[in-house]
Amino acid sequence: MSSDAEAAYEALIQFLYRAPVALIQLQSDGAIEMLNPMAAQLLMPLAPQGDLLNLFTVLAPYADDLPRLCGSFAASHGVICEGRRLLVTAAQPQAGAPAVLSLGLLKVDDGRLMAVLADVTQEVAREQRQLASRLASAARVDVLTQLPNRAGALGMLQRMVQRPRRAEDAAGALLFINLDRFKQINDSHGNEAGDRVMVLVAERLRSTLRASDRAPGRHGASELAARVGGDEFAVLLDGLPGPDIAERIAARLLDRLSKPYQLGAQELACSFSMGIVLLGADADGAEADDLLRDAATAMAVAKAGGGDRYAVFAPAMREQAALRGGLEADLRHAVERGELFNVYQPVVGLQADGQVDRAAGVEALVRWRHPVRGLVGPVEFIGVAEECGLISAIGEQVLAAACADFVGWQRQLGARAPRLLAVNLSRAQLAQPGLCGRVGAILRATGMPAERLQLEITESLAAQGQNIQQQLLEFKAMGIKLALDDFGTGYSSLSSLHLLPVDTVKIDRSFVSAADTSRHHEVLIEATVKVARSLGMSTVAEGIETVQQAAVVRRQGCDKGQGYLYSRPLAAEALMAWLMAEHSL
Ligand code: C2E
Ligand code: MG
Ligand code: MG
Repeated sequence: MSSDAEAAYEALIQFLYRAPVALIQLQSDGAIEMLNPMAAQLLMPLAPQGDLLNLFTVLAPYADDLPRLCGSFAASHGVICEGRRLLVTAAQPQAGAPAVLSLGLLKVDDGRLMAVLADVTQEVAREQRQLASRLASAARVDVLTQLPNRAGALGMLQRMVQRPRRAEDAAGALLFINLDRFKQINDSHGNEAGDRVMVLVAERLRSTLRASDRAPGRHGASELAARVGGDEFAVLLDGLPGPDIAERIAARLLDRLSKPYQLGAQELACSFSMGIVLLGADADGAEADDLLRDAATAMAVAKAGGGDRYAVFAPAMREQAALRGGLEADLRHAVERGELFNVYQPVVGLQADGQVDRAAGVEALVRWRHPVRGLVGPVEFIGVAEECGLISAIGEQVLAAACADFVGWQRQLGARAPRLLAVNLSRAQLAQPGLCGRVGAILRATGMPAERLQLEITESLAAQGQNIQQQLLEFKAMGIKLALDDFGTGYSSLSSLHLLPVDTVKIDRSFVSAADTSRHHEVLIEATVKVARSLGMSTVAEGIETVQQAAVVRRQGCDKGQGYLYSRPLAAEALMAWLMAEHSL
């Protein structure tokens, strides 16, 4: 060998010797012919007896298919396997030792193989860390809307309140947003429609927040939306110039969110309730969980106030929430113990000669005689009953008692007995299948003529859903009358009145109470009466408290009136006395 050739040979040996990968030359049965030091270093710990005669034997505990793999490789040369990972941890309990090897096998010719081994322990660990962090962030994202989920929101909130605040951006806020009557959307349009609405709400939140007009040039101002429950969203506002800004953003969000949603060919009107927790400097160190709960409590207050509004959290609300929780348990007993009873408010006929017809009708209104809290009104407990599934039991109890009372008056009072019985129907009742059948059974059991019963549904309810329309038509087919309650406060407008199968429109108290002082309200009453009449519907003015209001609704042509001016709601016996009284109003 020339000295040049010798030098080249030496260089090659050095190269193989120092290479940071393990190289092994084998016979086709795995017998090791040659290996470099790296190979020895990686393989020695796997061969407890220090016997490095056959690679297949050494690796058998981790890959026992190597002889078969090589034996069945038909081509004269080529790659048999590449980057095959071998978990060798079990044989190597010492710290820092290779845990994962990567194996490549190459067929050089018919008699010989080449193996390449590398320690990929670090690489695998890195991959696993990446995977874990991807999984963790997936666990923080809501699949449906792609917004952060509850865990994500809590994490961000916690970081926000833990971070020391600078004086100039002392204000932040947490908004908790809940769709009013989401259950009703699911019940009447199906869960898919409910999901679709959630996606649309999320999109609107995203675009509204992104487009928000923040003070230019502010650093650290951020607005983030998350979906924290079925129909619950949270918005985190940080770096606000002042707490009043939070309310401004809240009002704007509510406004944008309540624009109608397009569901296929249908437009769906939605409203939202929102609770706001203002995060001043005193929020430092607060627990994210507690803040979210406070925001939810404020939201519940906004909802109890009728929804479509926001409420700013105040500590006193916590007690109210506890009270509401207690109410639910008490309400279950109330139904069983018969603590609920009906009162009746007369609905008078407004005659052309200025007289009132006392026997036109009555409306049944439920009351609860609570053993500790005294008399509780329906506004306080109907919502709770709807949420906890008691509304059907209560509604049917009210209807049965009212029908029995009504039939009794007919017997005792003859011509002076009320001619029509109005009973309120809750939206949750209408969502229950089989309602018409159960109402029919109550009518038969009490001997109540169907055409004397008027079921009252709120305007917002009647405007929504095929199922509800179907139920209403079924009631009509039974001969039952239908009234649209609280007209003017809901979603349907005069222009869609003709789509509803109702006989009577009850004009909401908020219009009537302003009728004598606001020309605008008087015009609305006038228009409602005209449209209703053109559709063959009658009208009732609700909540008449003064003779002036009575005069206006009479002048505008309302057929009937109801309100404290004529009578407050009365217990059954007191109503009998009122009906028998001679004096006129
Ligand atoms: P509504 O059906 O619109 O009933 C009229 C409400 O207005 C009654 O309140 C009545 O007491 C009140 N009201 C009548 N005249 C006047 C007045 O001149 N001034 C004022 N300030 N208020 C007047 P109530 O009994 O508290 O009932 C409130 C609502 O609760 C009802 O509104 C109805 O939506 C619901 N509700 C009552 N009873 C039942 C029931 O048995 N089932 C269901 N589902 N809802 C009911
Ligand atoms: Mg009513
Ligand atoms: Mg009403």
